[in-house]
Amino acid sequence: MSSIQQNIEHITSQIEAAQQKCGRAPDSVQLLAVSKTKPNQAILDAAQSGQLAFGENYVQEGVTKVQFFNQNHPELDIEWHFIGPIQSNKTRHVAEHFDWVHTIDRAKTAQRLNDQRPDHMPALKVLIQVNTSGEDSKSGINDEDIFALAELISSLPNLTLRGLMSIPANVTDYQSQLDAFQSLAKLQKVLSDKYPDVDTLSMGMSGDMEAAIEAGSTMVRIGTAIFGARDYSKK
Ligand SMILES: *Cc1c(COP(=O)(O)O)cnc(C)c1O
Repeated sequence: MSSIQQNIEHITSQIEAAQQKCGRAPDSVQLLAVSKTKPNQAILDAAQSGQLAFGENYVQEGVTKVQFFNQNHPELDIEWHFIGPIQSNKTRHVAEHFDWVHTIDRAKTAQRLNDQRPDHMPALKVLIQVNTSGEDSKSGINDEDIFALAELISSLPNLTLRGLMSIPANVTDYQSQLDAFQSLAKLQKVLSDKYPDVDTLSMGMSGDMEAAIEAGSTMVRIGTAIFGARDYSKK
């Protein structure tokens, strides 16, 4: 077994332990492997152990990987999640290549993704990115604007609203992590009462996964703990 495969096994057992500890059903939290900056070989390695959902942050890099796997490994049937900031001039590439987008925080992006989604592809599954910690994150909308954006998305035929996502401030104390995640989970509850397709809460990364799971995360986004530290010097 490769080290990536061992890491996935380790994370999977941590997810299971966290679910069990707070009384959540087994398999209620999906693992999204964040492969940004990592080579195709690392993704292939993970995919061959059964990990088939990957998150990418940079449009060009992500599209190149999607094309590579569509051409060379169509049998793997990978699910691609776009989890980086989206500039409006790049929406077309995202609409044409990805299955999910976690980072919608304005009407214009939603509208463009809808208009540019090819007819032969299923509706793009989308999450609204919420700025739960105010100051230190530039991305994400504020709580009070979520519902207007949700209403717009639900009217767009080529998008399906599936829930919320956040990247909270990088704090290490468990209670602060939990507080931020629980406030997102409350908003999610209101949203899911209104929109039946809403079932996904994308929160939790390598450093705060346990608190996210306790608060109700259904998808944790893990990069470093699977693929090792990222090297940005070559970008
Ligand atoms: C990079 C990234 C992750 C993964 O972070 P790690 O700390 O490497 O686990 C998760 N979510 C988003 C949005 C990211 O950009």
